Amino acid sequence: MDLRQKIRVVDDFPEPGISFKDITTLLCDGPSFQSAIRQIADFGRPRAIDLVVGPEARGFVIGAPTAYALGVGFVPIRKPGKLPGVTIRKDYQLEYGRDGLEIHADAIQPGQRVFIVDDLLATGGTIHSCIELVERSGGIVAGLGFLIELQYLEGRKKLAPYEIFSLIQYE
Ligand code: 5GP
Repeated sequence: MDLRQKIRVVDDFPEPGISFKDITTLLCDGPSFQSAIRQIADFGRPRAIDLVVGPEARGFVIGAPTAYALGVGFVPIRKPGKLPGVTIRKDYQLEYGRDGLEIHADAIQPGQRVFIVDDLLATGGTIHSCIELVERSGGIVAGLGFLIELQYLEGRKKLAPYEIFSLIQYE
């Protein structure tokens, strides 16, 4: 099954010069969605994963079914102010202004092995923040999984030495 052909590439979205990879066209095709999740879960399975963690919002769409396939729990990482319990927060600089991500402070038990999953690896900034939150929670990052990797942005370099799996690559 050629999953790449299920991705819709939209030029100049959300702003001029960006070639946006739209995953909704893959998600709405049952066999493609199932195949994608199975392959990401297959990467995680031998790594003795205790939990899957995914960032808002597309990381939920890929991460939650991956956790289900592995028979482990799912932990969301959200934009600030969305999680009701006590949180750990990571702030980061955007091109204009600042933003942040939060995780529930009690979601990960120290020593648990965590598989971090998102739809797409671009510069690696989002996942770098997720790694920091998992490690500050006491978790061990046992792998990183993505549907898509934009290799030309070299996010992988920023994430060495973590083990990275991506299903579809754009050079
Ligand atoms: P990074 O932090 O690696 O630069 O960007 C990755 C994050 O931005 C991911 O959470 C992803 O959802 C979002 N993102 C960036 N570019 C795209 C794109 O072309 N398509 C999709 N679906 N998400 C993108």
